[in-house]
Formats: sequence, structure tokens, C-alpha cells
Amino acid sequence: MKMSGACHCGAVQFTVTLIDGLATARRCDCSFCAMRGAVAVSARRNDLTVTRGEDALTRYTFNTDTAQHFFCKHCGIYTHHRRRSNPDELGVNLACLKDQTPFLPVVQVRDGRNHPTDTSGARLAGVLRFTNAGDAR
Ligand SMILES: [Zn+2]
Repeated sequence: MKMSGACHCGAVQFTVTLIDGLATARRCDCSFCAMRGAVAVSARRNDLTVTRGEDALTRYTFNTDTAQHFFCKHCGIYTHHRRRSNPDELGVNLACLKDQTPFLPVVQVRDGRNHPTDTSGARLAGVLRFTNAGDAR
């Protein structure tokens, strides 16, 4: 199913088909993602099309520069990133997708501090469970 997405100010708009819907939703605990705080869902690289505002997208890279994190240069919102673990895949900001919420009851956390490219394989760092906002610990 093709979904539409946008940054906060609307300068960047895109359509995307996810690999497995919201089943791929996860957070990552690497130094960058922990600060960014977004929940990402997976898409194949060619399944995301920027329909407006390509020139408003800017990119951040660090460490090995393999992962490319894209965000709107006007509102600063992260829209998607090209994965380091699989450069043919994108992580897409779930909160940017129309009619979707990042406040899922359970979100897996990837062990981004021990990246699969640096270690023997991907590991699960944990699972975040949200019962309601007041109970989150
Ligand atoms: Zn924007």
C-alpha cells in the first residue's frame, strides 16, 4: 500500500510503500538515533519517491558515512535515512506518514551501538513498552 508522508512544514513531501507495514517499526540506540528519538519503518530504497521539496532535503552523515540521514532544512524534521546495515533499504520516520502514529504500544529497539557492520550481527537491544504516557518508565 502506497502511503504519503511529509515533514512538519510540508516543504518535503513523499510517497512510500513499506516492506511490511508497521511490523518493522523500531528505534535504534546508536548515538545519533538516541538523540533523534524517531520510530522508523522499513522501505526498499526505490520504493520512496520525493514528490516535492527535493531541494529542501539535506543530509547528515557521520562515522563511516554509509548511513545517510535526510531531514528538511526548513523545519529540521527527519524524513528518512539510507541504512548502513543495508544501503538498499531506507528507514522512514513513522511520524511523517499520513494518519500514522509513532506512539505504538510496543517498539523494538535495535542495538545500534554494536552495529552489525562492526560486529557479528544485528541484535535486539530491548523492547520499549508504552502502556500510557504516565506509565512509561
Ligand atoms: Zn519541513
